[in-house]
Amino acid sequence: MTKSLIFFALSFIFNFLMINGEISAQTPAFTRQDTLRGSITPERAWWDLKYYHLDIAVNPSDSTITGTNMVTYKVVHPSKLMQIDLQEPLVLTSAIQNGKSLTFTREGKVYWIELSENQEQGKVYSVILSYGGRPQISKRPPWSGGITWTKDSNQLPFIASSCQGDGASLWWPCKDHMYDEPDSMLISVNVPDNLMDVSNGRLRSVVKNDNKTATYNWFVANPINNYGVNINIADYVHFSETFNGEKGALSCDYYVLRDNLEKAKVQFKQAPKMLAAFEYWFGPYPFYEDGYKLVEAPYLGMEHQSSVTYGNGFKNGYRGTDLSGTGWGLKFDFIIVHESGHEWFANSITYEDIADMWIHESFTNYSENLFIEYYFGKKAGSEYVLGTRKNISNDKPITGTYNVNSEGSHDMYYKGGNMLHTLRQIINDDEKWRSVLRGLNRDFYHQVVKGSQIENYMTEKTGINLKPFFDQYLRDVRIPVFEYYIKGKELTFRWNNCVRGFDMPLKIDLSGNTMILNPTEQFKTILLKSGKERVKVDPGWYVATMNMTGK
Ligand SMILES: [Zn+2]
Repeated sequence: MTKSLIFFALSFIFNFLMINGEISAQTPAFTRQDTLRGSITPERAWWDLKYYHLDIAVNPSDSTITGTNMVTYKVVHPSKLMQIDLQEPLVLTSAIQNGKSLTFTREGKVYWIELSENQEQGKVYSVILSYGGRPQISKRPPWSGGITWTKDSNQLPFIASSCQGDGASLWWPCKDHMYDEPDSMLISVNVPDNLMDVSNGRLRSVVKNDNKTATYNWFVANPINNYGVNINIADYVHFSETFNGEKGALSCDYYVLRDNLEKAKVQFKQAPKMLAAFEYWFGPYPFYEDGYKLVEAPYLGMEHQSSVTYGNGFKNGYRGTDLSGTGWGLKFDFIIVHESGHEWFANSITYEDIADMWIHESFTNYSENLFIEYYFGKKAGSEYVLGTRKNISNDKPITGTYNVNSEGSHDMYYKGGNMLHTLRQIINDDEKWRSVLRGLNRDFYHQVVKGSQIENYMTEKTGINLKPFFDQYLRDVRIPVFEYYIKGKELTFRWNNCVRGFDMPLKIDLSGNTMILNPTEQFKTILLKSGKERVKVDPGWYVATMNMTGK
């Protein structure tokens, strides 16, 4: 009750501030660069990505990357100006189509490439982009993008990329918008020959060169989003196993620093356990063709497609701590479970605009308690997700600002997970709930989607109009308050502090008898047996409660 009242008070203060404009005054101003990065500009829309061949040399001695990206695309409608993203301090040195050099100009993080040939509708063309320089160093990987150059305990280079949010154009030239993915990709990485590169997909070949370097050729047979592409360079050792899953044999390959092999062999036993749980809840692992990999990285972790990066110290929990405070968070390795959960929600089902990042993080946050539930039972899973509520801040809406590469509140994690848990209570049918989760992964398999598509799908499949529900939890900061009082034998109740039309059903306990109420914004009254009943709202619902008589 105390907690509910705190939520209520906080949201009241927040609303007051909103009305008085004190918070809206802090709304960031977006720039032309934000629009170029975050929208489907005309210079992006006319060409459809088919294939990338990223071919680079990574040099640990001077922290440089040089190389080419061959961009193969199909013309959707003819145009001659192409937007390519590449961030400073990297420099594009040439752009070539069919052997001819093209002219280009720079505008901040964008290059405008002028194509000389006619671009015929429906035809496929390639541009080879050469670039190089010393890419931005990540200040706080993986939360700030860039390259991490570090050393392992044997003083050998240990290097990795991470770029969600800031964009893949931090380290390679590309169409840096999530709406378009190549159908496949070849990633060739040249490194000193005492090191190895691990990227996405399958290792096709290793070419030894005369200059004491080796080139690792990784092929991704599926569409891949920009920030999913990665390089990990170290003195790796490798072990593997086969997981027999819903689509047959799935190869699982693990790459860790030489000194961590024994620890990894114990801790990574959780990988097939994770696969079994998530195939049950979400359907087949989405990238059998590319295999599943866990790759040690010099930062906490990231959902790089088919090469999930791991830096959780071979310990359970989140860096050894339990985010839920219930004890359940120490029963699993947070990074193995959470980052791999993103293979379904991020890599297979991908947001078009980072404003809808909840598609990635709310479902993946929720996957943590589904993992717990699969192995420790429904009560345990529920305790975990409820425990994470203490991390919700209700500072701003979960949905960000569209078309300017702006994500919403960090609440997309814990509040998003609790939103989905609340939705599950409303549906009140676990098999139906699982079929919705599996249905999302079947019907949006390998697709880039808008948040509204996911919302509409869930309305359609549950048969419940979820528009006000998602308006409340994704686009508003207020926590709905269930207000009630008992007078005589009558229970009177309503929703308050909510969006217009909010009508979420609610399960309550009346001194041992459960019942479903259908509150709206208007007061409703029902007759009780004695009037002495105690009202307890089911804790599965993420709402606040207020007894209006103050009891
Ligand atoms: Zn995540």
